[in-house]
Amino acid sequence: MQVAKVLIDGPRELIFDYAIPAELAGAVHAGSRVRIPLGPRRATGTVTEVVAEPKPGPPAAEFTIKPLLGLIGDQAAVPPALLRLARWLADYYMAPLEQVMRSLLPVSVRAEKTGFRTRKILRLPDVLTPEQQSLMAALPSKAPRQADVLTALRNAPADTPILLADFPAATVKALSSKGLVLVEDATMERDPHADDTPSLLPSQPLVLNNDQLQAVQAITAAIDAPTTSRPLLLFGVTGSGKTEVYLQSVRHAIDRGLTALILVPEISLTPQTVERFRSRFAALSSGVAVLHSHLADGERHDEWHRIARSGARIVIGARSAIFAPLDALGLIIVDEEHEASYKQDSVPRYQGRDVAVMRAHLEGCAVLLGSATPSLESWRNTQTGKYQLLTLPQRVDDRRLPLVRVVDMRMEKPAVKGAPMILSEHLRIAIDARLQRSEQTILFLNRRGYAGSVQCPSCGHVVHCPHCSVSLVYHKTEDKLLCHLCGHRRLPLRTCPECQAPAIRLAGYGTQRVEETLRRVFPTARTARIDTDTMGRKNELRDTLNAFKARQLDLLIGTQMIAKGLDFPGVTLVGILHADLGLHIPDFRAGERTFQLLTQVAGRAGRGDISGEVIIQTYAPHHPSIQFARHTDFTGYAAQELEMRQVLGFPPCGHVLLLTTRSENEELARFTVENLHLRLAKSPPEGVIVNHPAPSPLQRAEKYYRFQLLLQGPSTRRLTTHLRSILHSMTFPKEVYLVVDVDPFSLS
Ligand code: ADP
Ligand code: ZN
Repeated sequence: MQVAKVLIDGPRELIFDYAIPAELAGAVHAGSRVRIPLGPRRATGTVTEVVAEPKPGPPAAEFTIKPLLGLIGDQAAVPPALLRLARWLADYYMAPLEQVMRSLLPVSVRAEKTGFRTRKILRLPDVLTPEQQSLMAALPSKAPRQADVLTALRNAPADTPILLADFPAATVKALSSKGLVLVEDATMERDPHADDTPSLLPSQPLVLNNDQLQAVQAITAAIDAPTTSRPLLLFGVTGSGKTEVYLQSVRHAIDRGLTALILVPEISLTPQTVERFRSRFAALSSGVAVLHSHLADGERHDEWHRIARSGARIVIGARSAIFAPLDALGLIIVDEEHEASYKQDSVPRYQGRDVAVMRAHLEGCAVLLGSATPSLESWRNTQTGKYQLLTLPQRVDDRRLPLVRVVDMRMEKPAVKGAPMILSEHLRIAIDARLQRSEQTILFLNRRGYAGSVQCPSCGHVVHCPHCSVSLVYHKTEDKLLCHLCGHRRLPLRTCPECQAPAIRLAGYGTQRVEETLRRVFPTARTARIDTDTMGRKNELRDTLNAFKARQLDLLIGTQMIAKGLDFPGVTLVGILHADLGLHIPDFRAGERTFQLLTQVAGRAGRGDISGEVIIQTYAPHHPSIQFARHTDFTGYAAQELEMRQVLGFPPCGHVLLLTTRSENEELARFTVENLHLRLAKSPPEGVIVNHPAPSPLQRAEKYYRFQLLLQGPSTRRLTTHLRSILHSMTFPKEVYLVVDVDPFSLS
């Protein structure tokens, strides 16, 4: 008898043995999704292992092992390689295996409730009786419409199904009653791109420049000999042609009969990258699967199975696409590898980029990380020799990097006293010049809404969210105050709640206010705004970007949604408003993030034939993040920042683990974090630093008080082992939730 070890779906991590009944022998494998009895009820789970013999024990034991009830769906299974990856994730990130499995398989595949969609299709019979043949010969004169259907069927390409629904029902019925067509059921995949740009023209590979060629050669060598190669980091300035390098490397993998997986920060924000892959591989019969967050359950289900059946050889998607069930992987690419969105902020709190490197290692394939502003983690790995560095130091065609100017906003005077200084004189003149020459401008500000906060001019009181420790932001279009954390909304105040002063002022500014200013200062310019508030409609973002690309717009204002991977040849000016907005966050990565954002946004300028100009408005003109970004000097920035991280023992020069207690009860959250500290600090392993607990920088979010404790040490393993050893003997109050964040990306 064979026994399956089954991980039961549910919050408690339970693994039980079940007998595999004779009729399922050979059909149940590690990774199979199964239905099982659990006490009096039925449950579902994932097989983690199939063991040939039950453990030797008293003979009666065999009878206590209940049999499996059946498989969920006949094809759903986690491939063995992904099962191994899941085990690693659960261990490394200290997450329950069951929750990892939840991330791994789309809900619709776990449950198999949506099933495949079947459609009625038409087919011509293989042989016709002499009687049918004469019936058919008479059709063109007697029943021309029936004859048309047959002609359509005969002329259809071999692999394209003909849907019953495409023809008049009566006509088809008449034909099928004579046996001249057959009506059959076929499973049809829902095509999530059905309403996209109609036909993609396959694009041709470009002739590579020398740097690109060297990069592609190194990558193809890694694809051919993955076991002896290291992860590759492609450091290429913005506009240096990284995407072309990706495309030609993927082509190499495909030509070798292998598959490729490409991670991008977010599908809807990188439409151009996705389109370039789809058109380059348009001729590939199995095609490219694009996994977005907007897919309907049914679509996601079908895409998953299509990939699992090798119906797609190339997969592009955001973070969770790293779990796509591709086999024979040849290459994994992580584009914009420094991006925050690769870190998941719910359990399991994994870093998609690192999981990509691990998956490549487990499956023996090449892995390529790419960025114009690599994370310091990856950069340091090239310095220690763990990763191999490939560089594209120049923009293609020797286009110059844009000229960057820094405007010191402390010296600017607003036109109206007390009004926020949104456009410096420099920037205003520069925009005006672009409008005169019919060139385009992008303005960037990383804060949506109308005003930054609402403040009483008499007593200085700032209006806060009642549930979170952040100020509310005024949104003019809705005339509401909004919390950007929990979504709390309220009507604007007319008087100060503290001192009852009659006026309350809007301090600072967000993208809405910038748009208003632009429309006033440049009334004839065609202006649009992109931020999460304008993204209501499904295709809003795509439509706005297309209009901008088609030069139907002059000015585009946006948040970091426009910082990524956009390539508009008409843009010759990029203005960055309030560049130091993110610098003063209490997080050791605040400077790194600001440097990355500025460099990426600046890189949107001058991608066409006319060279670009960037104007950075800031109140901290001498800050290193701004100065190094100004000279597009990543290496210089990295060198000085790494020196500081080394001194402080922060990543990548040390590992950290962040513990946060959350509770609606402030005292309980505090007590728990102090208790944790007491135990962790008692006898820490060598090299482990247990920092003092403190309120989180974001003290309260969505009603929960938050306290945190940072562990630092020479390796993640040492930190998690220490933490596990004390968690064993601790119990937590029910009202307190403990968040364990291994390799945290944000300390707030
Ligand atoms: P990156 O991803 O590094 O920002 P892209 O791959 O978007 O850069 O390339 C920028 C532009 O240069 C694109 O329009 C691309 O088509 C073009 N390009 C890339 N490589 C070449 C090449 N070898 N020859 C000519 N044009 C190229
Ligand atoms: Zn709130």
